[in-house]
Amino acid sequence: MAAYLELHYSGRLAERVEAARDLLQNCHVCPRYCAVDRLAGETGKCHTARLAVVSSYGPHFGEEAPLVGKHGSGTVFFTNCNLKCVFCQNYSISQLGDGTEVHKEELARMMLALQARGCHNINLVSPTHVVPQLLEALEIAINQGLRLPLVYNSGGYDSVETLKILDGIVDIYMPDMKYSDEKVAEELSDIKNYPSVNRATVKEMHHQVGDLQTNEDGIAIRGLLIRHLVLPNELAGTEDTMNFIAQEISQNSYLNIMAQYRPCHKAFQTPQLARPLLREELLEALELARKAGLSRLDKVYPVIARAF
Ligand code: SF4
Repeated sequence: MAAYLELHYSGRLAERVEAARDLLQNCHVCPRYCAVDRLAGETGKCHTARLAVVSSYGPHFGEEAPLVGKHGSGTVFFTNCNLKCVFCQNYSISQLGDGTEVHKEELARMMLALQARGCHNINLVSPTHVVPQLLEALEIAINQGLRLPLVYNSGGYDSVETLKILDGIVDIYMPDMKYSDEKVAEELSDIKNYPSVNRATVKEMHHQVGDLQTNEDGIAIRGLLIRHLVLPNELAGTEDTMNFIAQEISQNSYLNIMAQYRPCHKAFQTPQLARPLLREELLEALELARKAGLSRLDKVYPVIARAF
């Protein structure tokens, strides 16, 4: 049973929706703390006002194995993002605003359509800046029969205050852990304190849902799934991140070490990012995970580039 049903049946979900909505005034939905009044239509760093913006939704078969199963993960891609990664592969959505504003009723209808298609979960992609809006939609969707677990699929720069509102609502957290170094985070995603905030984010998520659990078919039902995109020239700080996960989260963490980096968007302006990942760099990242004692790894896709 999806976690949110218990809150809904006890009548406490409405309080959470209200608490989340309050964050929009003097916006501190995420740790950027822009302090703009989104209820009045103002926008901050995420360029999103009162309504969520959606670029697309549908079953997705390219996500992590425990989310995809036979029928796919029910993704809803939110437009805009609170991070500004210079190498973003979806920058037209995350930074150029491709998408359509949706009212809560429409967002609820999307969730229900994904459930009707047989998807195993509702996978909210880049949800950080629209938590209030998605909770408003969730209330409507539950009343119309939504029962699938929610996947909170974020860039990992989330506010602990907002995450506490989601406690008992989200079943599966899937944050990125992008960087270990503040200077790199500032240069590549325009956010200096990413490493410290990200670690607090992942700790809170793990505190709420624990290690990833799957059912007899291997489908995720609850827990934490961490993503780490390996960047060229060790820019992602992989060793520190692996050690943090193993020592401060859990050695039983489910981890997707992502090897698909290729230069996109403004990456060519940063010489260290201006090439694909090398095979040797991926192997090194996998070895660092192994050394740290992390063995629950999602399937790793091979990279083509080799060092000369
Ligand atoms: S959600 Fe958007 S407006 Fe609010 S603090 Fe974060 S970036 Fe700023």
